[in-house]
Amino acid sequence: MSLRELYQEMIIDHGRAPRNFGALSTANHCQMGHNPLCGDKLTLYVVEQQGVVTDIKFEGAGCAISVASASLMTEAIKGKKIDDIEKLFSEFHHLVTEGKAATIDLGKLAVFGGVAEFPIRVKCATLAWHTLNAALHNNSDPVTTE
Ligand code: ZN
Repeated sequence: MSLRELYQEMIIDHGRAPRNFGALSTANHCQMGHNPLCGDKLTLYVVEQQGVVTDIKFEGAGCAISVASASLMTEAIKGKKIDDIEKLFSEFHHLVTEGKAATIDLGKLAVFGGVAEFPIRVKCATLAWHTLNAALHNNSDPVTTE
């Protein structure tokens, strides 16, 4: 089996049986993401404590790439600091647009390198990451008009 085939198998596997799938009642960040180009939708539930993502789950539906990306992202970032997650996101973005990581080993996330050949799929692969970014940067204070 070639590396490319192995990568495709992994995306199909995670697309069919996503890890960390479901709601999380203990979440202190919750964010919805939508990729209208493909119809991918997801909701992220994040538990963040003192700058560390201690737990994360997601719900939603979409193409195999978007679901697999969310699944592998939750595995990759659980237990990581927000600073490190931001570095990972910028590397991941480089991977899916350029076909390879720039500086660090992305581990399992490297399976998305093939997405670079299909620019329309980049948004599918990065939806979960953009949603996470928004989730971690929203202001959790209640909204007031004054
Ligand atoms: Zn998609």
